[in-house]
Amino acid sequence: MSAQLLEGKVIAGKIKEGLKAEIQSLKQKTNLSPRLVSIQVGENPASAVYIKSQKKAAENLGIEYMLETLQANITQAGLIELLGGLNQDKGVSGVIVQLPLPKGIDYKTVMSAISPAKDAEGMHPENLGRVLLGNFRMAPCTAQAAMELISSTGVELYGKEAVVVGHSEIVGKPLSMLLLNKFVTTTVCHIATGERGVLPEHVKRAEILVVAVGKAELVKGDWIKEGAIVIDVGINRVGDKLVGDVEFEKAKERASFITPVPGGVGPLTVTMLMRNVVNAFKAQHS
Ligand code: NAD
Repeated sequence: MSAQLLEGKVIAGKIKEGLKAEIQSLKQKTNLSPRLVSIQVGENPASAVYIKSQKKAAENLGIEYMLETLQANITQAGLIELLGGLNQDKGVSGVIVQLPLPKGIDYKTVMSAISPAKDAEGMHPENLGRVLLGNFRMAPCTAQAAMELISSTGVELYGKEAVVVGHSEIVGKPLSMLLLNKFVTTTVCHIATGERGVLPEHVKRAEILVVAVGKAELVKGDWIKEGAIVIDVGINRVGDKLVGDVEFEKAKERASFITPVPGGVGPLTVTMLMRNVVNAFKAQHS
């Protein structure tokens, strides 16, 4: 068997069509456009790539994208003060702070300083809490992207066995909550699972497998359960190639659905950011 590819671009395209129509009708109702303010502290080539793709996605949908580049020597207090101004500004629908942040500025403190109503990345503690409660408006983009890919298979999720490898706050933890909200029996594995040598045992049980670690081909193809849905979030540069956290060529012979790397989760992540902004705008103007 060779798995069906879950191509992020195709699924993102359908979601974007819906968002575009929704934005048009919101603009007619309110006479306003959603606006996403993106904060970059200092210059960074890695974040420049993300900023470019966010700007393109926003503008294609009819969301204004405003980039503010701050001096790398800004203090945490200075950044928080600036965020306070954006929180008050009625013309701003959503705010995203690009990573990495300079030393001395704590990401979690900064995320908590963005109004939960404008939290485009869905990383404010209040929004993370809403994910846990199952009634969120904004949620972490990559976790939502993985969930959309899983849902796109059309497979009934109720009662299925999922294994999420990686327990970061942007992917593994929120995704495990999104899966639990759908009554999926969910196991979360992490570094200690790997160190104990029991990662293969867990992975082998997974009818739905999501891997978000950042280690090239950590999950071997022969660990994949026949017919599994495999979502590979990892992005690793090996020589001049990008590879995922799953041994793709072997895994695709056992899985029923699998995401390619690149081209799986990545294209959907930016779409989820846009959806968060639209949801923020709707809530602000309802
Ligand atoms: P992170 O470094 O914050 O977390 C890594 C997780 O992997 C941790 O939970 C850690 O305990 C676990 N881990 C490490 N070694 C392990 C092992 N041997 N066995 C089991 N678990 C192990 O990473 P992150 O920010 O969640 O990102 C993970 C990967 O996803 C990275 O490659 C990143 O580039 C990628 N990513 C992709 C997107 C996208 O849009 N496609 C978005 C975010 C992250």
